[in-house]
Amino acid sequence: MKAHSDTARMQVWHAKSQPGQIQGFAALCQRGLHECPQLRAGPWVAEGALPNRISVFFLGVLLFDEQHIIEHGRLLFFWQHGGFLGDEAGEIRGGDGGHGEKIRPSGRVSKRFPRDAPSFALASVLDFGFGLAHSVMPKYIVTIGLEVHAQLTTQSKMFCACPVEYGAEPNTHTCPTCLGLPGALPVLNAAAIEKTILTGMMLGCETPPLVKWDRKNYFYPDMPKNYQITQFDLPLCIGGGVPLYDLAYPKDAQKSIAKPGKVVQLTRIHLEEDVGKSTHYDKFTTLDFNRAGTPLMEIVSEPDIDSAEEAFAYLTSLRQILIYGGVSDADMEKGNLRCDVNISLRPEGQKELGAKIELKNLNSMSAVRRAIKFETERQAEALDRGEKLIQSTRRWDDDRGETTLMRTKEDAHDYRYFPDPDLLPVRTADLVAKMKPQVPELPHEKRARFEQDYGCSAYDAGVLASEKELAAWYEAAVAADQSVPAKKIANWVINDLLGALNDRSLNLAECPVKPEALSALVATVEAGKISNNQAKEVFAEMFESGKPAAEIIKAKGFEQVSDTGALEAIVEQILAANPDKVAEVKGGNEKAMNWFTGQAMKASQGKANPKMVTEIVRKKVLG
Ligand SMILES: [Zn+2]
Repeated sequence: MKAHSDTARMQVWHAKSQPGQIQGFAALCQRGLHECPQLRAGPWVAEGALPNRISVFFLGVLLFDEQHIIEHGRLLFFWQHGGFLGDEAGEIRGGDGGHGEKIRPSGRVSKRFPRDAPSFALASVLDFGFGLAHSVMPKYIVTIGLEVHAQLTTQSKMFCACPVEYGAEPNTHTCPTCLGLPGALPVLNAAAIEKTILTGMMLGCETPPLVKWDRKNYFYPDMPKNYQITQFDLPLCIGGGVPLYDLAYPKDAQKSIAKPGKVVQLTRIHLEEDVGKSTHYDKFTTLDFNRAGTPLMEIVSEPDIDSAEEAFAYLTSLRQILIYGGVSDADMEKGNLRCDVNISLRPEGQKELGAKIELKNLNSMSAVRRAIKFETERQAEALDRGEKLIQSTRRWDDDRGETTLMRTKEDAHDYRYFPDPDLLPVRTADLVAKMKPQVPELPHEKRARFEQDYGCSAYDAGVLASEKELAAWYEAAVAADQSVPAKKIANWVINDLLGALNDRSLNLAECPVKPEALSALVATVEAGKISNNQAKEVFAEMFESGKPAAEIIKAKGFEQVSDTGALEAIVEQILAANPDKVAEVKGGNEKAMNWFTGQAMKASQGKANPKMVTEIVRKKVLG
């Protein structure tokens, strides 16, 4: 029976690989199913196709001897008498048939219905525009490359001494050089070159022995000298890669990472100057040249990214590394990390890449993910309709959640690169030697060390190492008292500290609890002086008042009685008053032992150290 059902699956699969419209698909499905003797296919009862992402229903009735949910691509739904369907993530959400089951993203089968299930199944494909693109029509291979512009944390601009400052009064940080006035000469900023080389070292790039600067010629209102100084054929860094950290993926995608431990290959990193900033109003535009000439590092990846989720993880991981190296604040909201996406689709089996379509104006992580998802669907649908895609640049509109065409290849600029005659090439050997000792411990190295040295779980170590400040805070707490288990401190930091900061929208620098104070609190719990629940209460108050744990414990009267003499007196009194229970303990009744502990706790008004009480009872009764 299994073999026949598999045949049916292959037939549907076969149908999927045929180009054409839905009618074609339905016909092939029918043919395929009829050819399978074990499947008596009823007619497809409804079908339809509308272009341009318009949803239609597509219903079919299949009669199965043995029923299957068949899944391919990302979407497929066989719906059994009102059961539910898969969604975009390939998850079948619980239907009333109780057949809900996760479909593996690998795109293989699925699930066998119980033999006794009614032999009537309704196949349904919803959101046809989407479903057809991804499951019925030929599967497309998505290829994505990212160009990331990161503003460097230098004090002055790339070719002049004007300060770099975010949010300053417009046009207050300018000079003849960055305004592009005739005759003004550029002077290289050494710190910017060093920070770019350091970035290359963190990402495993090579730095050529000689690098140079070139002019990229084009007219732009916020670039008055009509060329941008950049690096054309001899950039500061070549090759390298960005490791994708598990926790850098979007939260909802962390459980189904397609390629764990993937490293996205880089093409190059070069250094250039930023342009000014235009702000458009109804009838006029203002220009601010504070940003003109600030150092901008462009990190170009190979077309090595397979999905929106990987692009998200790439940006998040890269951001972490840039912040670790102190080379950029990498804050997308402030615009000091900006991203262009190149995306192309090609049918499975085709070797050469499809037309490269560039997305501009992506200024948040979520925008990158949404824009890639949108563009993947848009291109797949266009290809399904038999359209030929052409190389072009598109703008992402975050509010509308869609991309619009900016220009096609025909309007592509010829930048007429040539070496900047005002700037000499730079020999890099000395700079490389200078920066080598400054390569910091990177997030994945720190994570491995936290696991190894502190016994943190992989997840905890990942969270702690994800931010440089958080890792430093944690290590300060661990260093404050070596006798406190580092793993316990990790629990407190992740579960309690981060939660409390999040609740009050505070960042770590504003945290009212200092690392030493948390360490002292955990030490008190570990010594058995207060219970875990009491410690939570103490922590809440530490966070409110900033007072040390000891002071709060005292004020709350949580201090446990750990004085052996005092505890022995209490226990002796209880033993003397309950000879029958003593006999039970002697008879091996553990419950009676607990009863004594409970009585002692009561007698001490909850202040007795329960561990010590149990020990004393054991010693006194059993000897
Ligand atoms: Zn200047």
